[in-house]
Amino acid sequence: MYLLARTILIIIAVFIISRLLTSLFMHFYSKKRLGRVAFFLFLLQISAHIVFPIYYKFIRPDEISLLKQETTIIKKSKELAHKIVFVGMDGADWKVILPLIHKEELPNFKQLMEESSHGNLMTIKNANSAVIWSSVYTGKKPQSHGINDFYTIQPMGFSSPGIYPVHRTFFPEIAGLLEKIPLATRNTVNRSFLNSVPLWEILKEANLSIGILNASFISYPAPELSGTDDFFVSHGLETYVGKYTDHLNALEDQLERFIQPTEFFSRLKPFFSPNKISDRASIFLNFLEEDEQKDFMNVYFDEPDHVQHKFWKWYQPEYFFFPKKRNIEAFKDKIPDVYRYYDEWLGEIRKQLEPETVLIIASDHGHTPCILNKNAYTAHRHGPPGILIINGSPIKRAHAFQSAHILDIFPTILYLIGLPVPEDSDGRVLEDAIDEEFLHDNPPRYIPSYDFLFSKSLSNREKGLLDKEELERLKSLGYIK
Ligand SMILES: [Zn+2]
Repeated sequence: MYLLARTILIIIAVFIISRLLTSLFMHFYSKKRLGRVAFFLFLLQISAHIVFPIYYKFIRPDEISLLKQETTIIKKSKELAHKIVFVGMDGADWKVILPLIHKEELPNFKQLMEESSHGNLMTIKNANSAVIWSSVYTGKKPQSHGINDFYTIQPMGFSSPGIYPVHRTFFPEIAGLLEKIPLATRNTVNRSFLNSVPLWEILKEANLSIGILNASFISYPAPELSGTDDFFVSHGLETYVGKYTDHLNALEDQLERFIQPTEFFSRLKPFFSPNKISDRASIFLNFLEEDEQKDFMNVYFDEPDHVQHKFWKWYQPEYFFFPKKRNIEAFKDKIPDVYRYYDEWLGEIRKQLEPETVLIIASDHGHTPCILNKNAYTAHRHGPPGILIINGSPIKRAHAFQSAHILDIFPTILYLIGLPVPEDSDGRVLEDAIDEEFLHDNPPRYIPSYDFLFSKSLSNREKGLLDKEELERLKSLGYIK
């Protein structure tokens, strides 16, 4: 309501100023009606350029300092603020986890479930991972956060960020053709395509310490950090480094777009090698072992999704037409192996966590077996549910919650870390998962919106450094043509 009133006021201000200027100008200049209308529209534009900068310069700073005051108070009330470790597992699915737990093959997942709230995580239909993770990190539906696909198509000569392919089955071919001519380019989405504030920018503003290791597409480019021990590794680093492994020294000047602070690269370097592009899991564990745990830490893994697309045919061969026996033998463990690997990692991670930490594991969607194309034996555009596991002292134990949605992660993290929850979020605090006494003693506090933190500096759509490489990667995975 507050936001709506504010927007209407700004529009009225723009209108009145331009109306006055038009009358004034016309009084001295011309009486022609059409010219008058055109000139009015022209001035409407100009006035908007006057009113909006004034608004951002003189009205927003107050709100920001208000938030700062508020967050200092929050930081002092320690009993409410919990450190959060958030693990994103693209495409992770109960359909794989539960049978493996039943076979006693995932002891750490099993133990975690006994000590946590867990259940299906409903998701957004007709979307892909770039879109859904943007909703996870902003608490907004795609219509509000503005990311609608992995990439936009930008016709030659247009400086705009391009348009999203409206229909994926038809558009990629046209885009492919136009690219060859070359009449168009494809831009992979990044932070500058976002119309809403991502979680880490709110946490930074609240002076909380952060450590982020890839937060999907919108984490590129890495933001400048204020905290001395904070780190932020953006999406795309591995593709970039993988491409230039032999010239790592030459690309250090480009690294600030991927890593903040850039000195951090010396710590990541040992994990990169020509044959093994990255090992995000080991890097993250290494940070937890050697550094102080940050207020918010996040790592995002894409392996479950890739491996499930590629190998489900041999994981559940009964869903497919006569897969070859020797292929079943060779590939049937590819998917379980991924989960066994993360199970072991989870055990190691949990040993490192400070006692009051809340651990959240979530996937953006599940998978349904089907023949999607020659590289993919599962699909998820119809939105099969993902997984959500939350564990920590303010969270119910061995509890299966009724319903949770992708959009609920953002407000729930803000609540648990001790910050006000924005009223304009499309999700809600997942109260069903939270201990009743804790919830009673610490009811969620609300703020109209965090939109005033939205950084204007990124509004010149920054073209990714890695567009070509990233697109090749997406093509090789069968995501785009
Ligand atoms: Zn996928």
